[in-house]
Amino acid sequence: MPSFVNVEKCDGCKALDKTACQYICPNDLMVLDKESMKAYNCEPEMCWECYNCVKICPTQAVDVRGYADFVPMGASVVPLRSTDSIMWTVKFRNGMVKRFKFPIRTTAEGQAEPTGGFNTDPDLEGPVLFTEPDSLGCDVWTK
Ligand code: SF4
Ligand code: SF4
Repeated sequence: MPSFVNVEKCDGCKALDKTACQYICPNDLMVLDKESMKAYNCEPEMCWECYNCVKICPTQAVDVRGYADFVPMGASVVPLRSTDSIMWTVKFRNGMVKRFKFPIRTTAEGQAEPTGGFNTDPDLEGPVLFTEPDSLGCDVWTK
């Protein structure tokens, strides 16, 4: 389900140098139209469907396009983000509505630890791995 921008909700991140969706997209797909100051997904077919842009957009402007096999015409999938969760509202063609709520990361933007908070140094000095990194035959761990 590639993402797309609802232009009515997008405010271009109020003309910051780099918008939130541009900052977060791992595939650099989000582009800001400098004239309209609206973002758009420039290559939906290349979208990884990671939904980082959906989660980070401060105005809830990024939506996703459901695949026809489970979101046929007349149905919809709409994400709604809060501070600690994201709610997916799935509306079927017969009018049935289902909602799925999942927790999302609450670490402040830019504050995530690259190692995920794990420190491997004590293990490398332990009896099981005491020969490393020398026994690996490379100096990648010592850099
Ligand atoms: Fe628009 Fe949201 Fe992207 Fe900001 S993060 S430019 S509001 S789509
Ligand atoms: Fe980029 Fe992921 Fe958004 Fe696709 S879903 S545009 S890959 S951030």
